Amino acid sequence: MNEKLPIAIVGGGPAGAFVAELLAAAGKEVVLFDERLAWEKPCGGGLTHKALTQYPFLGEVRAESKFIRRCELTSPKGRSARFELRHPLAIFSRLALNGLLLERATRAGAEVRKERVTGISGGPREWQLTTPNAHHRAADLVLAAGARNPFRSQFATAISPDDLMVTAGYFIPGDSSLVQIQFLKNISGYIWVFPRPDHVSAGIAAKMGETSTADLRRQLERWLRENNFCLEGARFYSHILPAFRAQTLDGMKVCGAGWMMIGDSAGLVDPITGEGLYYALRSAELCAEALLAGNPSQYESRLGEEILPELRLAARVSERFYTGQIFGESVLEKVVSLTQQNQQIRDLMGDLFAGIQDYQGLRSRLLRILPGLMLESLRGRFPAQMAGPIKNPS
Ligand SMILES: Cc1cc2nc3c(=O)[nH]c(=O)nc-3n(C[C@H](O)[C@H](O)[C@H](O)COP(=O)(O)OP(=O)(O)OC[C@H]3O[C@@H](n4cnc5c(N)ncnc54)[C@H](O)[C@@H]3O)c2cc1C
Repeated sequence: MNEKLPIAIVGGGPAGAFVAELLAAAGKEVVLFDERLAWEKPCGGGLTHKALTQYPFLGEVRAESKFIRRCELTSPKGRSARFELRHPLAIFSRLALNGLLLERATRAGAEVRKERVTGISGGPREWQLTTPNAHHRAADLVLAAGARNPFRSQFATAISPDDLMVTAGYFIPGDSSLVQIQFLKNISGYIWVFPRPDHVSAGIAAKMGETSTADLRRQLERWLRENNFCLEGARFYSHILPAFRAQTLDGMKVCGAGWMMIGDSAGLVDPITGEGLYYALRSAELCAEALLAGNPSQYESRLGEEILPELRLAARVSERFYTGQIFGESVLEKVVSLTQQNQQIRDLMGDLFAGIQDYQGLRSRLLRILPGLMLESLRGRFPAQMAGPIKNPS
C-alpha cells in the first residue's frame, strides 16, 4: 500500500509558519514542529513597506504593530539627520507576529506541534523526525529552524563564524515614535531603537569576531544611558544573525532530494541592514510554489533569480559601507551628512527603509542625484556671488 505522508516543517518562525499556511491552504497535509511556538524572538521586528504591500494581511492587524514615520540617523562622530518616512515602517513584537502567522497556518489546516525536533534521518519520500515524545514520518522536509538551525550541517555546510553577526539588546518598557539608528566606530553594524506598541526593542549588531558580546552590551548600555533610556524592568537578549559573504552566497545549497531550506536557516538576510523578515516570508512563498508545482528544484532557481543577486550585492558593498572612505571622510559620516543636507538623499534613505529601493538600482539613482549634490556643494563652498551665475546662467 502506498501510504501518504505529510510535508514536515521544522521551525515555526515567520518562514516555517508561512510555508505551512500556503501548503495547507492548497490542500497539502502539513505538520509543523516548533519547540516554543509563538515567542519573543530577539529581533527589531521591523517590517518594510515592501513586505506590507506584498503581504497585506500584516498591515491589517494594526493593534499588533506600531507604524513609525520618523527616523533619525546618527554618524559615529555624532552628526544627526532626522527625516520623515514617506512609507511607514511597521514594528511588531515577535510574539505577536509569530502568533499571527502560526494561527493562520492552523486555520489553513496545518497540524502545529509544540515539539523540539532532535534528530532527522531517512531520505526523500520517507524522512524520520525524532522529538522527545515520538517519531514522525514525512515525505518532504522543509528546514525553517532559524540561524541556529541544528540540522544545517547534515544537509548543507555549517554556517561559518565569518558569515554571522552577533547581536545584543534590550526590550525596554516605554514609548517612542522615532526609529533611531546609530552607526559606530570600528564596528560593521549599528545600534537601533525600534518602538513597538508597548515597549521599544533596542539592540546592537556587529560582525562576529569584531568584538565580544559583553563589549557590545556595554556599548549599547552606555548609549542608552546617554540617550535617556531607563533600563529598569528591561529584558536583555542576545542572538546571532546571518550575514553571508558574497562567496558563501555564490556556492550556497538550499535544497536537495526531498528537502528545502528557507529563511534564516538558509542565510537569507540582508548583510548590511540585518533585514530577514521579508526574505523569510518570500522564501517560504517560493518554496511553497515549487512544492505545489511538483518541482522542488524550481525553488533554487527562483531564489537565484530574485533574492540572491540582491543579497550578493549587499554582501559586496557591506564592508565598504561600514569601513570605507569617500572624499577623505568615512562613508558613514558622508551618508549622514548628505542625508542632513539633501532632500533627494532623504527620499532615497526613506525608500531604502521602505524596501522599495533595491541595491541594484542604487548606483543609477545616485548618479541621477549627483549633479544636484555637486551644485549644492559648490553653493556651500563659494560666496553667493560666485555661486550665483551657476544658479542663474542668464
Ligand atoms: C537582534 C535581531 C534583530 C533583528 N531585527 C530585524 C528587523 O527589525 N527586521 C527584519 O526584517 N529582520 C530582523 N532580524 C532578522 C529576523 O529576526 C529573522 O530574519 C527572522 O526571524 C527569520 O525568520 P525564520 O522563520 O527564518 O527564523 P526564526 O524566526 O529564527 O524561527 C525559527 C524557529 O525555529 C524553531 N526551532 C529551532 N530549532 C528547532 C528544533 N530543533 N525543533 C523545533 N523548532 C525549532 C525556533 O523555536 C524558532 O521559532 C533581526 C534578527 C536579530 C537577531
